[in-house]
Amino acid sequence: METFNAFFIFILGLSIGSFLNVLIDRLPKERSIMGRSECDFCHHELTWFDLVPVISFFCLGRRCRYCRKKLSWQYPVVEMLTGAVFLSLYICVPANPINRGIYLALASSLIVIFLSDAKYRIIPDSMQLTFFISVLLLKFFDKNIIISLIYGFRDSLIVMAPILFIYLFTKGRGMGFGDVKLSFTIGFFLGILKGFMALYSAFVLGAIVGIILIAIKKKRLKSKVAFGPFLVLGVIITCIWQRELAKMIFYFYGFK
Ligand SMILES: [Zn+2]
Repeated sequence: METFNAFFIFILGLSIGSFLNVLIDRLPKERSIMGRSECDFCHHELTWFDLVPVISFFCLGRRCRYCRKKLSWQYPVVEMLTGAVFLSLYICVPANPINRGIYLALASSLIVIFLSDAKYRIIPDSMQLTFFISVLLLKFFDKNIIISLIYGFRDSLIVMAPILFIYLFTKGRGMGFGDVKLSFTIGFFLGILKGFMALYSAFVLGAIVGIILIAIKKKRLKSKVAFGPFLVLGVIITCIWQRELAKMIFYFYGFK
C-alpha cells in the first residue's frame, strides 16, 4: 500500500510538473493560464496524446507532432523534477496529509519562481503569494500560533533587511523588488539563523556562477544575473544540509 501511495504521489508530481511548465512560461508574460495548451512554435492546439508528462516528449522524438520543431528539454526536466520532489517530500515530511499538501504547494511555488526568474527575470507575484501562504499555513501547526506569527514577522523583517538595503542602495540594479519580497518569506519560513544561512548560500553560489559566466564570456561584468534562483537554491541547501552548512561557515570564518 505504501509503495502504491508513493507511486501515486510520483505520478501526481509528474502531472503537476506539466502544469508548472505552463505557469513558468505564462505567468511572467501575464498570459491566461486557463487556455488550451498549444505548440510554442506553430500554435497548433495540443491533444491529451501530446500532453502525457515525460512520455509524449520522448515518444514524439522531442518534436512537435504538427510542425516538427524541436521542443525544449524544460518540459520533461521540470516534470521529472517535480515528481522527484513530491516523492522525497512524501517520504521525508511527517505523516500528516494536510502538512504534506502544504509542503507540495510550497515546493511547487519555488520551482516556478526558480525557472521564471532564470528565464524571464520575473518572479510572478502569484507564486510569491503561494509561497507566503504555504508558510503561513504551516505556522498554524505550531503550538502557540500567535507567538509563532509574531516571531515569524520579526524574522522576516530581519532577513529581508540586507536585501532591501542592496535594492535601495543600487537603486534596483543589484536586486529586484521580487528578491526583497522573496527574502521576506524566506525569513518567515526559516527564521533568522537559517534565513541568513540561505542568503549566505545564495550570495556564494551567485558569485561562483557569476564568475564562471564571465570567465566563459557568457556574461559581461555589468550584465545582470537573476538572483531569485540562487535564493531558492539557498533555501533548499539550508533545509537539507543545515548542520553541514553551519559547520562549514563556522570553520571558514575561524569560529570554533
Ligand atoms: Zn508545432
